[in-house]
Amino acid sequence: MKVLKLSGQGLPQSWISLEQAVIHYAADEVRWEIGAPVAVFRGGHNAITGRQSVITVSSIIGTRGVPGINPFQLRPGLTNAKLFARDRNICAYCGGHFGEHDLTREHVVPFAQQGRDTWMNVVTACRPCNHRKSSRTPEQAGMALLYAPYVPSLWEDFILRNRRILADQMEFLSRGLPRTSRLHPGLS
Ligand SMILES: [Zn+2]
Repeated sequence: MKVLKLSGQGLPQSWISLEQAVIHYAADEVRWEIGAPVAVFRGGHNAITGRQSVITVSSIIGTRGVPGINPFQLRPGLTNAKLFARDRNICAYCGGHFGEHDLTREHVVPFAQQGRDTWMNVVTACRPCNHRKSSRTPEQAGMALLYAPYVPSLWEDFILRNRRILADQMEFLSRGLPRTSRLHPGLS
């Protein structure tokens, strides 16, 4: 399980471990918290009061300090796991739904024709469709795309990066999604 760390402005910064979150709490860097408590850590006893320190970690925390990333300059990294999640494990050519092992990263304009390895030029395809299309464009192969590729937004990228998102984290990130996003909860 990961904690969603936000900047002071409320923009997603990173997924961090519980241990990293505790360090932010201990350094008094947590400006606000939303979401449910997800863990309680007990520390040492205060020498004067005898009270034990307790840190309760929330699923979403806002920290002070300079944001590590500028969302407007973000180019989310391309991985197969995120690509398949963007496309909901659906082959762009036959529309079939497949497990990760039967899927491939398909270049719409193939490398052989100067196609590039970018979000806008890749879709999810099953192995037979990828093989059949080969080094041709969809037009040349007579295989129309069932959906269009797109570059994930900052909020989409955070959803794609974490496969075990808690409900309140998903709800928070969903608010930043474009209306047209395929990642809205409840869609399938
Ligand atoms: Zn297919």
